[in-house]
Amino acid sequence: VGGCINGPTMKKEDNILLRRSRLQNAIRILEKLNVKKFDRFSVPLDLKRTLKIRKVEYNIPESEIERIFAEMGKTNPEKVLDCTGCGYETCRDKAIAVAVGKAEKEMCFAYLVEKVSSVSNLVVEETPNAIVIFKDSKILYINNSARVLFANYPEDMIISICQRAKESSNRIHELYINSRKVYLYPKVFDLPDDGGIVVLFVDLTEMVQQREHMNELRRRTIEKIDEVLNEQMKLAQDIASLLGESIAETKSRFAEFKKFLGEENVDN
Ligand code: SF4
Repeated sequence: VGGCINGPTMKKEDNILLRRSRLQNAIRILEKLNVKKFDRFSVPLDLKRTLKIRKVEYNIPESEIERIFAEMGKTNPEKVLDCTGCGYETCRDKAIAVAVGKAEKEMCFAYLVEKVSSVSNLVVEETPNAIVIFKDSKILYINNSARVLFANYPEDMIISICQRAKESSNRIHELYINSRKVYLYPKVFDLPDDGGIVVLFVDLTEMVQQREHMNELRRRTIEKIDEVLNEQMKLAQDIASLLGESIAETKSRFAEFKKFLGEENVDN
C-alpha cells in the first residue's frame, strides 16, 4: 500500500488522505471486475501522469568549467566532441553536471579511452623488457629499456639485431652489446595491417649469470670434496703401512725372543 500511495502516479501536492482515497477507489474498481487476470488497458483506471521538462539553470563560473575540462583532458576545442555518449547534449552540460556533483568526469568515453591508452603507454614505456617496433629500415618506436640496452647503437644496427632475433630459431641469444655480454630471450610478432614488427627482448643476463655462478660453485665444491677424500685415503694408507711395519717388527722381535728361550732350555 505504501508503495502505491507514494507511487509514480500520485501527485506530490496530494495529501495522504487524498492518496489513500484514490487507492481505495482503484481497489474497489478492481474487485468489481472479479477476474484473476486482466488487461491493464481495458481497466477504467486513470494511471496517466504528465511530466514537464523543468530545465534548471546553474550559474557555474567559466573558470570552474575550464578547470573541469582540463581534468577531463579537454585541453583544446578538438577534444570537446559533444558526442552525447555520456547522456548530456554537450561537453559543457556534462562539465556543469560534474561541477554540481550530478556526474563523474569518468562518465566521458573520450576521457576514459584517453586515460586507458595513456596508462598502457606508460606500462610499455617503463617495462624492464626492451621493446622495439620497426618497419623496413626504420625504427617506429623504441621504449626506455631498449634505449638503455642499445645506448649509442645506430638505428641500422638495432634493426639488424631485431632481424636476427626474428629469423633465428635460438630461444636465448648470447650477444655482446656495448662490451657487455647479455642473454636475451626475444619474442617477435607482426602488427596487424603491415603496421610493423614488434620485438620484445626479455633480459635474462642476471638469471643466466646467477646460474653460471651456481654451477661454478658446485664444480668447486665437488673438487674440494675429491681433494679431502684423496687426503683421507692417503692418510689411511700411511697409517696402514705404519701399522704393518710395526706388526712386522714386533713379530720379528717375538721370533728372536722365542728362539732365545728355546736355546736356554737346551743348555739346562
Ligand atoms: S561523452 Fe565526453 S565527449 Fe561526449 S558529450 Fe559527454 S563529455 Fe563530451
